Amino acid sequence: MCVLFLSIFMSDIKIVSAPEGIEGAGFFATRLDKVVGLARSHSLWPLPFATSCCGIEFMATMGSHYDFARFGSERPSFSPRQADLLMVMGTIAKKMGPVLKQVYLQMAEPRWVIAVGACASSGGIFDTYSVMQGIDEIIPVDVYVPGCPPRPEAIIDGFNRIQDLVKSESRRRRNSPEYQALMTNYGIK
Ligand code: SF4
Repeated sequence: MCVLFLSIFMSDIKIVSAPEGIEGAGFFATRLDKVVGLARSHSLWPLPFATSCCGIEFMATMGSHYDFARFGSERPSFSPRQADLLMVMGTIAKKMGPVLKQVYLQMAEPRWVIAVGACASSGGIFDTYSVMQGIDEIIPVDVYVPGCPPRPEAIIDGFNRIQDLVKSESRRRRNSPEYQALMTNYGIK
């Protein structure tokens, strides 16, 4: 235990700072939703919906060099029911749209979505009859990562933006009128 503490103390590992609160000698008080947000943001389980080349960049992001596990996300989930972050990477054909939407609908709230790369964000170079011109035609997107393909650093940056969102969202996001209106726009109850 002492060795572990010493090695953390002597390394570059940064301990996540505590949420806003009131502190004094022997106590620290904060709001429950801030603690929940902090915990959630460092334990997101991504569902990689990878259809083409951007998925390869995600594989690099998961590897030891970029080490996605640093953010508590080393456990990709291929079951929507055990995932809270949908990462869409690659060209999405219109035929694939209903499948993607079904995967999204099977995820429990709260859930977040990243469109990784030009194809998922806007159709990219494939301005054709068969390719969806951005996944936000069928599901709401929280963060768009530009690039064709985006480098792993850009994917990590997009993930960090999601973490900021997760930290600052109330536990009752799904019940807010704005969120309900957004879902209604997409025909999602
Ligand atoms: S954005 Fe570029 S790299 Fe990514 S899936 Fe589309 S064509 Fe491939």
